[in-house]
Amino acid sequence: RAKEAGRNAIRLFTPAMAEDARNKLIRIEELRRAVERDEFVLHYQPQKEVRSGRVIGVEALVRWQHPTQGLLLPGAFIPLAEETGLIVPLGEIVLRKACRQARLWQDRDLPALRVGVNVSARQFLESSLTSQVASALQSADLDPQWLELELTESLIMRDVEGAIERMHELKTLGVSLAIDDFGTGYSSLSTLRRFPLSRLKIDRSFIADIPEKLGDMAITSAIVSLGRTLDLEVVAEGVETEEQARFLESAGCELLQGYLFARPLPSSEIESLIAGAAAKPA
Ligand code: C2E
Ligand code: MG
Ligand code: MG
Ligand code: MG
Repeated sequence: RAKEAGRNAIRLFTPAMAEDARNKLIRIEELRRAVERDEFVLHYQPQKEVRSGRVIGVEALVRWQHPTQGLLLPGAFIPLAEETGLIVPLGEIVLRKACRQARLWQDRDLPALRVGVNVSARQFLESSLTSQVASALQSADLDPQWLELELTESLIMRDVEGAIERMHELKTLGVSLAIDDFGTGYSSLSTLRRFPLSRLKIDRSFIADIPEKLGDMAITSAIVSLGRTLDLEVVAEGVETEEQARFLESAGCELLQGYLFARPLPSSEIESLIAGAAAKPA
């Protein structure tokens, strides 16, 4: 490491670097304003229950309606939001919108949908998270059973004891908890069973190369049996082909989410999708 630093000791601050730094500052300023003005919208991606064939939940995915650049995906701003701490107020906006939307769907007499909300590391570590969630539920007048928080495996494995404590705090509100991007971290069975979880979401990377990669199929099946052992529901993410869906169904995976069924959609399109499905004779 010292050798590496020595070799790179002479750093020139090039015009290109100055330009990058400037662009980043502009981006941070834009993001700060976006949070102030709330330039965010949520899209929702359906989750299909294998047993019934019905959509029983959706995942809320944030998009930034940028004043000049159009609709930006999370990859373009979530990392910066994390870095600057803006993820905390942004996360609160997302929670409020998701709870309000879930309640709106219920008021329109659609079959009830559970809404999953992604929680990032910085948000999870923030001591105010539990009260933020409580307040979002309360102002939307949403029964907490319809809210699910998605935490990533790497996040909760970083400080297991701290995570367990925080998760129990959240559980007392009545919400459910899922592990997102599962399979990419290193959780052991004995650690996993200590978390108050309802669901495991298999990381998309294991689904993408089914059926070409036998190893990924083996891992996927193993995660499904792990879920059964721990009495957790398993959700597969990134299901794009019929073949993947068939494999997952035969492996016993309970819920499927992916472009095969639907992309993340604006709330109005979720409504027509659900209403249309409900109107169809079984
Ligand atoms: P994630 O939570 O794992 O969400 C799933 C991502 O996979 C979404 O990308 C979704 O559009 C994409 N996806 C779903 N099905 C398929 C498929 O069949 N094929 C492919 N290629 N992709 C699929 P998106 O919306 O770009 O979000 C990316 C990540 O950004 C999310 O990963 C999540 O980690 C983060 N994110 C999104 N919304 C929020 C939020 O409100 N708060 C926080 N903290 N993070 C968020
Ligand atoms: Mg997620
Ligand atoms: Mg995921
Ligand atoms: Mg992810």
